[in-house]
Amino acid sequence: MQKEVWTEVKAEDFLQKYLPVAKHILCKKPEDVVKECKKFSFPLVLKLSAKNLVHKSDIGAVTVVKHPDELQMKLDILMAAAKKYKLILEGILVQEYIEGHQLIIGIKRDPTFGHCVMLGSGGIFVEMIKDVAFRVCPITDDDAQEMINELKGKRILEGYRGGIKANLGELRKILVKVSLLPKKVPKIDELDINPFILNSKTGKVVDARIVVG
Ligand code: ADP
Ligand code: MG
Repeated sequence: MQKEVWTEVKAEDFLQKYLPVAKHILCKKPEDVVKECKKFSFPLVLKLSAKNLVHKSDIGAVTVVKHPDELQMKLDILMAAAKKYKLILEGILVQEYIEGHQLIIGIKRDPTFGHCVMLGSGGIFVEMIKDVAFRVCPITDDDAQEMINELKGKRILEGYRGGIKANLGELRKILVKVSLLPKKVPKIDELDINPFILNSKTGKVVDARIVVG
């Protein structure tokens, strides 16, 4: 079967059935964003969604709008970027802003072990430090705790130097749920949640990519 890639909106709409996903609405036109924003509180996040755009933040296609007064200006900047980079725009995604620690959660298919679940420290340094833990799917709550324990960034999640103390119980639940996904939906080849944002209350998917096939 031909492999297919689902990017943000399609991936997030699919994941919503299984995991907590940040509230989002895809708007076709900037005018619709002005209208749909009323369903959100500020700050909120706007993202360009386009078939020919993979790393949105590289071209300034992700922006936080702190106050309604700056909405139009931020929209104008986004639309200018869409034009400059000749994006084949699917729309502008309005998304709930989530405060917290950034993590990467994923599924990879290993030729020997089959589907594995992955947890990694996220944020801007993630590519440099490669702080990740893997387990074969499915996992138990104890396995999930072991994965968290393996992270070098664990102390940061625990609230190092007055930082946010992450809800690790919620993270364990999410990891177990992710590890059960390949059984529920066997066509999932790969899943990349980057980032999953976790705070002291909740955790939510804010960006995802799925390979099916
Ligand atoms: P991409 O990976 O395509 O650059 P993302 O959607 O992952 O785009 O957004 C880039 C970064 O913007 C994230 O790593 C995160 O730091 C921030 N971000 C994105 N969405 C949200 C959100 N809903 N709430 C808070 N921060 C966000
Ligand atoms: Mg991302």
